[in-house]
Amino acid sequence: MRIEEIYEKYTAHYLIATDTRKIRSNAIFFALKGSNFNGNNFAEKALELGAKYAVIDEADFEIKGKTILVDNVLETLQNLAKHHRNQLDIPIIGLTGSNGKTTTKELINSVLSEKYKTTATIGNLNNHIGVPLTLLSINPTTEIGIVEMGANHQKEIDFLCSIAQPDFGYITNFGKAHLEGFGGVEGVIKGKSELYNYLIKNNKIAFVNPDDTIQMEKTTTCNRVLFSNKIRFLEANPFVKLSYNSKEILSNLIGKYNYTNIAAAISFGRYFNVSDEAIKKAIEKYSPTNNRSQIIKTNSNEIILDAYNANPSSMKAALEHFSSLKKGEKTVILGDMFELGKDRSKEHQEIVDLCDCFSFKNTFYVGELFFETSTKNKVFKTFEDLKQHLIKKPLENQSILIKGSRGMQLERILDFIN
Ligand code: ATP
Ligand code: MG
Repeated sequence: MRIEEIYEKYTAHYLIATDTRKIRSNAIFFALKGSNFNGNNFAEKALELGAKYAVIDEADFEIKGKTILVDNVLETLQNLAKHHRNQLDIPIIGLTGSNGKTTTKELINSVLSEKYKTTATIGNLNNHIGVPLTLLSINPTTEIGIVEMGANHQKEIDFLCSIAQPDFGYITNFGKAHLEGFGGVEGVIKGKSELYNYLIKNNKIAFVNPDDTIQMEKTTTCNRVLFSNKIRFLEANPFVKLSYNSKEILSNLIGKYNYTNIAAAISFGRYFNVSDEAIKKAIEKYSPTNNRSQIIKTNSNEIILDAYNANPSSMKAALEHFSSLKKGEKTVILGDMFELGKDRSKEHQEIVDLCDCFSFKNTFYVGELFFETSTKNKVFKTFEDLKQHLIKKPLENQSILIKGSRGMQLERILDFIN
């Protein structure tokens, strides 16, 4: 069946489903394949649960009048999203970068939804499936689309841009994340800059932080909007406070690095004529979720839980911020950083060397990669070892920073810290 015909069915309800547990009636079910599942097996179930049609790519699962047989379900989903994008006459904002994409996306969404009906990426659905799904969730009432684009290899952002075709783009930063897939820091800059290349080639607009030399360098030939010079950093103790147009804004975000995420959101708001009052209100009401820099008060300690993910640049930013806080005794608990490829030993050693320069009361590392480094502080090979230590010697009256890669699941520490 041609994309145009599937498109006609989609525009009847603007509902797509890829998971039978989340089927809504009248949705079109796309039977995607993963490494451990074959969506074709669920097509019949999806139809029973109320899906209007199921798009499949294995003829054995055909049900007359109900299934749409295509060569490749994933490619069909991507082509449908692209086709939908081509019909849309609204601004689409594309975001990428090593760290801070989701936070910046949520902040921009909070600001722009003060004035417009927006549709933004849900959670972290930012890959070759998430981006098409985000675009397909844009319905006729949407006035601005905000699309998070993630990548860990070259050419992925290029591909996502070909689907989302952003009119505006912002790269949060070029950090040391996914070094393995990108091939080092230069590789990260090249890979993320595919967004700029798209914007330049299509005469679109980049938002640029003038304090970021790489952003400035990479966008010299691009139409660009520089962050307003009316935005000023005031403090991060621990929450980021800034002023915009002489008005103070107190965010619920910790870490100076969040200042740039907020400055980006203000700049988008300003460009799209959201009033200063509404921008302030939107920033102040946004609170992070999902272990992203949350503050948790326990009976005897205060915890900065930043266990959502970690890489050398976000780890360094978090440590520098934590060390600058005016707090009493401080403890840091750091977990391994993944996906660093051949640089992993060096990057872990650099973090350890950095921590050795700070005078935290306790510094604990956990994980096999940290275990291989040399440090004057305490290292635990496994999570269980760390747990036993903290149970035997409980922390008291400490400000505690917890940060590690997602796979380390350091939020489990909350189960046994008082
Ligand atoms: P993912 O690759 O998982 O989609 P992301 O880029 O969407 O991540 P966020 O989820 O917004 O990033 O933030 C993850 C963590 O990155 C935060 O908890 C914080 O430690 C760090 N971080 C956020 N913004 C920045 C920034 N501008 N610079 C450095 N580190 C940052
Ligand atoms: Mg994200």
